[in-house]
Amino acid sequence: MSLAKKMSDMDTFLAYSVALEEEAADRHDELAGMMDVHNNPEVAETFRKLAHYSRLHAKEIRDHSEGSDLPVIAPWDFGWDSMEGPETADIGEMNYLMTTHQALKIAMSNEKRAHNFYFDISRDSPDEAVRALAGEFADEEKEHLALLEKWLANCPEPAAEIYDPDPPHMPE
Ligand code: ZN
Repeated sequence: MSLAKKMSDMDTFLAYSVALEEEAADRHDELAGMMDVHNNPEVAETFRKLAHYSRLHAKEIRDHSEGSDLPVIAPWDFGWDSMEGPETADIGEMNYLMTTHQALKIAMSNEKRAHNFYFDISRDSPDEAVRALAGEFADEEKEHLALLEKWLANCPEPAAEIYDPDPPHMPE
């Protein structure tokens, strides 16, 4: 059964959404940290903004569901894997040598993944209210994606691989 079809009630949908948004927020904060090391404060700022949106969104969802206990979704129950596009970068590929272009691409694949998650549910959930709310969330993710696309247009892929002969020490 597809994940979208499993979203048969609001609580299940909200529980998955909170988990997705919190994961996205952490990922964006990590990317922001890497851009700090890169001395790229503007893009770091963009990633922090996205992290902030995700946290805000998670909080809204929690408020929305106040009164009802959201089911706790274990990470292995998510089934994210089947939804991850082939371009979705692994966290292990993230490092301080990553270019701004690469960081933006990773952020974009995260936003795309979130968009696809909500979009599928907006079409395939058996519950009408879940479909409607998922449609709203999908639109928000599209806005985040548009923001990143604007940045990417200003950060073309560098021609050569970057080699740093004197890597900075990573703070513990
Ligand atoms: Zn987003």
